[in-house]
Amino acid sequence: MKCAPFDYVRAGSVEEVVKVLGEADGDGKILAGGQSLVPVLALRMARPSVLVDVNRIPGLARIRPVDGAVEVGALTRHSRLVEQTHHPLLAEAARWIGHTAIRSRGTTGGSIAHADPSAELPVVAAGVDATVTIAGPSGERTVAAEELFLGALLTSLDDGDMIVRVRFPLPTRWGFAEFARRHGDFALVTAVVAEIAGSLRITLGGVAAVPQRARAAEQIVADGGSAKDAARATADEIDPTADLHGSAPFRRAIAGEMVRRALAQVGIE
Ligand SMILES: Cc1cc2nc3c(=O)[nH]c(=O)nc-3n(C[C@H](O)[C@H](O)[C@H](O)COP(=O)(O)OP(=O)(O)OC[C@H]3O[C@@H](n4cnc5c(N)ncnc54)[C@H](O)[C@@H]3O)c2cc1C
Repeated sequence: MKCAPFDYVRAGSVEEVVKVLGEADGDGKILAGGQSLVPVLALRMARPSVLVDVNRIPGLARIRPVDGAVEVGALTRHSRLVEQTHHPLLAEAARWIGHTAIRSRGTTGGSIAHADPSAELPVVAAGVDATVTIAGPSGERTVAAEELFLGALLTSLDDGDMIVRVRFPLPTRWGFAEFARRHGDFALVTAVVAEIAGSLRITLGGVAAVPQRARAAEQIVADGGSAKDAARATADEIDPTADLHGSAPFRRAIAGEMVRRALAQVGIE
């Protein structure tokens, strides 16, 4: 199928994006890497009247270490995240995104805005307590990543908003484990372990509509329990739904195992 007709605007600045989206009054869409949006358009699951191409806006693809965190511009491609060395957890997670072609086009802002429950960057963002800076009609605001994700493919972004950067705190210790049916497939389950401000956070992707903290497992680890006990608690506390790719019990078991593997990477056996 082909996309429905739309107007195309190549924006030169964030202000122009916000202006064009405002004029479109809820009927405009940002085009970043196009790796999620273009299939949606081609299937006519979305029919925006205007596409605002943000790819030529200068200064939005920077990766910048800032006290205890790394700031990633919205237009940073997944492949750049893989190559950078400032934030090793982000580099590891980005390596698992799709295939080379997807990683060389897809962007950080696009992945966070798309909010796919199986995508890697939203889990890392929630896992390290990242903050997202958004430009909108009333200027810039910053929200916690965990508050941004409302459901599968659903965020608290308003129609006229654009993500401009994401600030990922640097964990003092981290682990990352993922299970996918084939290399490059979306994850069935992702587990991120990150020590932030002295606390170990365990966050899962692929088991719920939004990234989910494994709080029972976190408590077990905080009390000096084993990774095996944390894995068992994870399987008990989540409520995944079955789909074509796996039954609920299968996902529970995989989630437990991914938590065990990610904990092993921070020395918790
Ligand atoms: C075959 C295939 C396999 C894939 N596998 C994976 C995978 O394993 N893991 C994974 O995480 N992803 C995967 N993806 C998705 C990929 O990571 C996308 O790049 C990403 O989800 C969207 O980024 P994008 O820059 O391409 O955004 P686009 O497709 O351009 O946009 C996606 C959505 O976000 C909005 N948007 C884009 N940028 C912004 C912004 N700055 N502010 C506000 N809204 C914005 C758009 O309007 C649109 O609604 C896969 C995609 C394909 C086609």
